[in-house]
Amino acid sequence: MSTIPEIATLVQLQEAETEIVRLKAVLAKVEKDKIKLASRLEQFEAAVKENREDLERISKSCRDNELEIKVVDERIIKSNETLRNVTTNKEYQLLLREVDDNKKRKDALESELIEFMDEKERCQSILDESEKEFAQIDAQVKSEQAEVEKQSSQDRSLLDEYETRQQEIGKNLDPVLMERFRRIAKMNNGSAVSRAIDQVCMGCFMNIPPQLYIEVQRGNELISCPQCSRILYHEQE
Ligand SMILES: [Zn+2]
Repeated sequence: MSTIPEIATLVQLQEAETEIVRLKAVLAKVEKDKIKLASRLEQFEAAVKENREDLERISKSCRDNELEIKVVDERIIKSNETLRNVTTNKEYQLLLREVDDNKKRKDALESELIEFMDEKERCQSILDESEKEFAQIDAQVKSEQAEVEKQSSQDRSLLDEYETRQQEIGKNLDPVLMERFRRIAKMNNGSAVSRAIDQVCMGCFMNIPPQLYIEVQRGNELISCPQCSRILYHEQE
């Protein structure tokens, strides 16, 4: 019973191909995870930015309010000064009402300012909290990313190794056979060679017709599974 030498080469090629497919999937998942981590960080960053803008807005309201109080105060002082020099009763009443209106306006502004100050304090504490949270997440994400990076750089060099090995193995193979391997591998997610056990293809788990199975066992030529096209081989126990 003679097994053609290509079978052994094809099995080696398949071992490398299986690892290549696995590593590529791992690395693709790593890339996806990296994007997920980055977008999580971005979300926290956006929250901090929003909280900072809220604080800036309320701080501006406080400043505007304080400025207006100052203006009203000056008006009151001015009116009081003018009051001392009025000659007519009508003028006197008019100024008095002006002072009164301005005092009312000042009271309203002051109670508004108290509300603004409370709001400002609240915004400040929300901002502080979200900045703290962001710093924590940032540190966590960076350490996770470093870990992932370390692992994937190991996987990448392993992938290089297998690809080089596959090229070496491929040199000993007829290009036509190599092309056949590639074509079948493409159809079956990287699996082009399959063991046959007890008349079953271990690639697709379908039964192999008895006559074909005998030929696979003889190993005089390359037999493809009628179901999945994988090149079949039989290992003597
Ligand atoms: Zn099959």
